[in-house]
Amino acid sequence: PTTAPDTVPLPSGERIPLLGQGTWHLGDDPRRRADEIAALRRGLDLGMTLVDTAEMYGSGASEELVGEAIAGRRDEVFLVSKVLPGHADRAGTIAACEASLRRLGTDRLDLYLLHWRGRIPLEETLQGFAELADSGRIRHWGVSNFDVSDMTDLLSVPGGDRVAVNQVLYNPSRRGVEYDLLPWCYRRDIPLMAYSPVEQGRLLRSAALREVARAHGATPAQVALAWVLRKAVPTIPKAGRVEHVEENHAALDLELTTGDLDALDRAFPPPTGPGPLEIL
Ligand code: NDP
Repeated sequence: PTTAPDTVPLPSGERIPLLGQGTWHLGDDPRRRADEIAALRRGLDLGMTLVDTAEMYGSGASEELVGEAIAGRRDEVFLVSKVLPGHADRAGTIAACEASLRRLGTDRLDLYLLHWRGRIPLEETLQGFAELADSGRIRHWGVSNFDVSDMTDLLSVPGGDRVAVNQVLYNPSRRGVEYDLLPWCYRRDIPLMAYSPVEQGRLLRSAALREVARAHGATPAQVALAWVLRKAVPTIPKAGRVEHVEENHAALDLELTTGDLDALDRAFPPPTGPGPLEIL
């Protein structure tokens, strides 16, 4: 088995790893810090080099921990952070990005996302993104928690069609996007990125996931990840322990059968109509 995870293309053609690492709540507990840094670094060793953080996480503590974990290895990483909607006017976006860069100990982000849509007009956020891109402080920009109507609004703003990613909640228990947002983005070559792929751990108790896992000699976390990855949707599980990172990485080699997918459909029925985008 290869240690280099599969990749998916961004609209620019650049490829990003299918399996990355989330970092929400990393850095919250000083006693866990060394383990968390070791976990992130193990993930980098395994090719899980897509690393997702945000100014919101621990009010900067997650970014500082990520900065420590990637020190000396910056060029291996596809680094993602996010601006809070309340900061996302033109000047605020630039200032927030500069603060994130300082905490991360780097001079550039590979992808900068608007964390969710707020009251500030998208035009202003996009002006900030454009200036950051022009000066090389961000390489791509995107959005998070945008439903179809938000994406439609975004594409009507000048330059809005340069959106690189929409990061949304997606896992077996959160399938609403399959009805509309996922096909809508597919048709326009805008990749989704799935957050909370194991539903923050809650999915690991599911009887259906455990049953499928048992049949493969796998774990419920691996089944949930393989299920998300079956659609070639990149995903960013958070794991604060080396063992969990290694387990998650092995999900790349788990192929679910049609029978498995049918069983999971029975436990977690696909959407039959439109509904509001779920968020965490
Ligand atoms: P996840 O679904 O990734 O679940 C994380 C939890 O699952 C942790 O408690 C972790 O434990 C546990 N876990 C991970 N792997 C395993 C495993 N193999 N076996 C057992 N337990 C495991 O939830 P998150 O909400 O953290 O989502 C992932 C990332 O997505 C976030 O960290 C963040 O970067 C991003 N995100 C973005 C949002 C947005 O609005 N854009 C919203 C929510 C998340 P442990 O740490 O002990 O390993």
